[in-house]
Amino acid sequence: MQIIRYEYRDEVGWGILEAGGITRIEGDPVGDYRRSAQELDARLVRLLPPIKPGKIIGIGLNYAAHAAESGKLLPAEPLMFLKPASALIGAGEPIVLPHRDHRTDHEAELAIVIGRRVRNLAANDWRDVVLGFTCANDVSDRVLQKRDGQFTRGKGFDTFCPLGPVLETEFDPTDVAIRCRVNGELRQDSRTRDLIFDIPTLVAFVSRVMTLETYDVILTGTPEGVGPLAPGDLVEVEVEGIGTLANPVR
Ligand code: MG
Repeated sequence: MQIIRYEYRDEVGWGILEAGGITRIEGDPVGDYRRSAQELDARLVRLLPPIKPGKIIGIGLNYAAHAAESGKLLPAEPLMFLKPASALIGAGEPIVLPHRDHRTDHEAELAIVIGRRVRNLAANDWRDVVLGFTCANDVSDRVLQKRDGQFTRGKGFDTFCPLGPVLETEFDPTDVAIRCRVNGELRQDSRTRDLIFDIPTLVAFVSRVMTLETYDVILTGTPEGVGPLAPGDLVEVEVEGIGTLANPVR
């Protein structure tokens, strides 16, 4: 099932994307909800990030080839950082580069969306707590990332976390294609089977550090091929089986 969050004539709500269009739902996707009889006029729908997380946990250097291109050794355990929820934007919204003279990169990532509160999860139980998956772009100012020695500023600017377009709840993350295109040119092209720490490992690991709450997001890391964005670009993150998250750059 593909869930969206939308703004429609000043109303914010959730819907289900189906062949026939968008069906509005009453309630929320993790609780009891009902399909509304009323369909939305797709032309008037503005997509929002499919969920509103309390926190976004990033994982760094989780593909061997990306660690190599960054000149870094492989981490012995998942490298965690936080990205603020204020950085979120939906599909189609512009990424705004605050420093035009800084190299600011796209990072195509598979995002995990948590479906209920959990701590100290056993990796085998991951399916009980994951609501679904979506596409993310972990936009990163390399100059500030290097200057600060940590990620809060370089990855934390407003608009630096495009998320969407849909939350896919029926999805096997084991081996799917993940790609990034800039102005139609393929920049990143990998598969999730190349993740160093897989999805069960990541959810269990993070839950042993901090309580995960409903709608929290874990960004699983980016494959090789990261590269700079410039004003006027159109950047697209595609995850096979979910869709394509496209954002212009300003
Ligand atoms: Mg990243």
